[in-house]
Order: sequence, then structure tokens, then C-alpha cells
Amino acid sequence: MTKGNSRSEPIITSAESNQFKLYRRYPVAIESGSGSVVVDADGREYIDALSGIAVNSVGHCHPAVVKAIQEQAERLIHVSNFYYSEPQSRLGALLAEMSGYDRVFFCNSGAEALEAAVKMGRKNGNLKGKGGGLVALENCFHGRTIGTISLGKEKYRASFEPMPPDIERVEPNNVEALEKVVNDGTGAVIMEPIQGEGGVKPLDRGYLEAARKICDRHNVLLVFDEVQCGIARTGHLFAWMYYGVKPDVVCSAKALGGGFPIGAVLATEEAASILDYGEHGTTYGGNPLACAAALANMEVIRDEKLCDAAAEKGEYLMKTLRDRTAGLEYVLEVRGIGLMVGVELTFKGGPVVKRMMSKGVLANCASETVMRLVPPLVISREEIDTVVDVMLSSMKEEYAATQEKNSA
Ligand code: PLP
Repeated sequence: MTKGNSRSEPIITSAESNQFKLYRRYPVAIESGSGSVVVDADGREYIDALSGIAVNSVGHCHPAVVKAIQEQAERLIHVSNFYYSEPQSRLGALLAEMSGYDRVFFCNSGAEALEAAVKMGRKNGNLKGKGGGLVALENCFHGRTIGTISLGKEKYRASFEPMPPDIERVEPNNVEALEKVVNDGTGAVIMEPIQGEGGVKPLDRGYLEAARKICDRHNVLLVFDEVQCGIARTGHLFAWMYYGVKPDVVCSAKALGGGFPIGAVLATEEAASILDYGEHGTTYGGNPLACAAALANMEVIRDEKLCDAAAEKGEYLMKTLRDRTAGLEYVLEVRGIGLMVGVELTFKGGPVVKRMMSKGVLANCASETVMRLVPPLVISREEIDTVVDVMLSSMKEEYAATQEKNSA
């Protein structure tokens, strides 16, 4: 941020003076965006390798999404779920067709999609007459509501106890541990096929296959949280398609709306029928404006073949990173699937993020030491090269700085 006649500064000062102190923000006010590039209020350009944390997959302000929002906004913005609307019906049909699921429930965010899945799990257990216990994985992240933090890490739960009861957390990729906790009373097993906030950690295919079998054996819902890893990012429309393991319930959000807030729960007929009339719902979920945006977004993903783009560009990004970090003592691993990539460092990545930002690239750090890259799927090879150049030079500088500090 430049002081003096900076246009960013009053925006930042105002937000800091009256908003809850919940986000530790960078001193940057983003004003516009197009494709993979965003521009701040002082005219500085950044390649957005974070894309709103895996949201802007079709790029910022994709013309088709903008047009759909404009046209729908002039016709009808909101109507109660007491009534039907064409955008909602069309989006439901498209998602059912593209995903192979029978039914969809629309909501407004990732956490809300997970909340619905949690209720489905609880009720599934109760219907079996054995209580509605849930099983989640250690190191998971499913959102910030009480229902979703109850599944997740201690650090997000600690200040908000007591939590809802009967939740088991097991080590990821440990089949034996899962076998031990799942029983006939369990309502649902919930997991991210690729743990995002936990440090971009893909689960093993064998583990997901085993989880499917264990859930089938005990009539337990298998729920995949695809809020971050879904919607083409892995090179497949859904991560479960990459793995070849179909859960009963898929939670989606983020990239579903092309930047417009919307969430969705996709389910088999049997799983969806667990919830009865009036047992769940939301005022805004599936409103015409959100559905028109998501419909245009999903059509772009299909028509511009963004699954293929994610697979091909992800391979290029991963190979480039692996080649160029080979032998670097401070890089422990480059991992990920498609365009969801993590680079694990031996030191904290937060300062690297700041260095990258000062050089015009937005990224972030998951789980303290993992640099996370989840760029728009429309990112060009040249932009990928710039992201990698900037990331490598920033990592190198920060490593040298930490070495210097340690030896002082
Ligand atoms: N699930 C996963 C895997 C996420 O990454 C997130 C958000 O980062 C959520 C759920 C919560 O989504 P939202 O922030 O839209 O509530």
C-alpha cells in the first residue's frame, strides 16, 4: 500500500475501524479482476494464484457469469423457496446430469452444505435407532459453524465448548482406525478427499475405497466435502470421480458459483430421502440470482473444457515446481492433484506469502508451512511460470532471512 494519496488507505482504515476483528488482512484493497489478474485500488496488478481460495475457477468476472447475473438481476433477484424458479430448476437439472446424483439441496456456503450433511448423518443414525454418531478425520476443515467446527480441529473448537456429542475423529489414511470407530449406530463418515486447510493433503485411493466398504457394511452415509477440491479443480468435475469412489453425499460450494455465493448438497435418492419436508431449509438457498450465476459458471466449465485444463495445467505446474525445487533443502514436498497444489516447507510460509504479494502474486499458506496454489483454471502457462518464479525467489529470500535470524 502506498501512503499519501493512496486510494487503498481509506478503504483499509475504514474497515479496520468498524468491522469485527476476525480477519488478519493484508494491506491490499482489491478493486477489479479479469481472468487470473486482480487490480488493487492503487492500480497494482496481481496474478491471483489463490482465486478467492479456490472460488474463481473460471477466472474473475467471466463475461458469461457477469451477463447471467446482470440479466437475472433485472428480472428477479430473490423469491422464497415456497415457490419454484426457472434458474433453480435448470441448475438442479444440470448438476444432476453432470454429477450423476439424483437430488440436490441448495444453500449459500460451504459450511451450510456441511451442516445439511451433518443433519443427514445424525438422522440416519437416529433412524437406525442407534443414535447419530459422526466420524470425521483429524486435520480436517469443514467450516466455522458449531456443527462444522465440532467435526474439526481443536484450535477452532477450543473457545466454543461444549460441542455437540458423539463425534469420533480418526487419523486420515488409517483404515484400521476407521474400522474401529464405525459401527451400526454411526450416522455418517465425513471427509475431504483432499484436505485443503489441513495442508493440501490428498487422501489415498485405497483409503477411500475402504471407507466406502465400511460405510456400506454398516449402512452409514459416506460424505465427501468437496467444497474446496470439487468443481473441476482435480481435472475431474468432482474429486470423487478422480478417485473412482462415489460417496452418498457430496458437499459443494466455492467454485460452484463463479464467485457468487452458493452451496449445494448432492445426494443419492436414498440419502436425500433421509430428510423430510420441513426438516431443513434456508431463505436464500438457491435464489434465482445465485442459481443464474452458477448455471452460467457450470456451462463455462463444461464448454471451455476446464476439467481438461485443470489436469493439463496442474501437471505442468507440479512438474515445473518439482523440477525447480529438487535438491532444495527447505522444500519437503510438492503435492496435490490437478490445480490444487501444496509446497511443504521446513519453515513458516506466512512471510513468503507477503514477499510474493510485494512481487505481484497472490497465494496463501495452509497449515503454517504449506504454500497453497489454487489458481483459476483459466490461468495461462506464462502466468504459471511467473507464479513459480515469484514463489521460488520469495521462498529462497525468506529461507535466507530465517537462517540469518537463527545464526544471529
Ligand atoms: N469445507 C472445506 C473443505 C473448506 O475448504 C471450506 C472453506 O474453506 C469450507 C468447508 C467452508 O466453506 P465456507 O467458508 O463457504 O463456509
